[in-house]
Amino acid sequence: MRDLILSTGNKNKVKEIKEILKDLDYNILDKNEAGFESLDIEENGDSLEENSLIKARAMWKELKKLVIADDTGLFVDELDGEPGIYSARYAGESSNDQDNRKKLLRKMKNIENRKARFITSIAVIDERGNEKILRGICEGKISRKEIGLNGFGYDPIFIPQGYDKSFGEISNEIKNEISHRAKALKELKKYLNSL
Ligand code: IMP
Repeated sequence: MRDLILSTGNKNKVKEIKEILKDLDYNILDKNEAGFESLDIEENGDSLEENSLIKARAMWKELKKLVIADDTGLFVDELDGEPGIYSARYAGESSNDQDNRKKLLRKMKNIENRKARFITSIAVIDERGNEKILRGICEGKISRKEIGLNGFGYDPIFIPQGYDKSFGEISNEIKNEISHRAKALKELKKYLNSL
């Protein structure tokens, strides 16, 4: 079985990615399982695509194995796309998920149009160094307050289109069918199957 290395060690993301890719014939290892806990990669690109490539290339350089890296951002229409590529550090360099959610809700206090979307970029590099970028988008809106305890990051304040519940309330099974990451990973599966 071929190894597929994830350049992330984020437990929530790893759980989602492994669940969605479980029917692929690959031995999936996250960054920690691949022995790279301490590999610190600076995400200094100008787009999700660039950042996902930076992360994938850093791991590929070390391993020369099939590597995937994902980068996600939440883009709010009325805030000109904020927090966007700065989603992880929206409330400051050492901010946590709750700080980021609070800042976004505060900034949107008087905003009626709550339209937003999650975008995930996945960069994949195969053993020979061929690079490919895949994308997934999930449309939705920002809630007025935090709802639900499932998921992570901005999940408790994001209501996907077609639902009246936040990602914080929706089950993992449903999130893994409709989310930005799920859609990008479906594209990844198609790509890997075509290799
Ligand atoms: P990154 O992809 O790890 O750089 O994530 C950027 C930011 O988006 C972080 O604040 C994450 O917590 C958040 N984020 C990433 N994926 C999701 C998701 O599926 N739901 C909610 N927030 C997410």
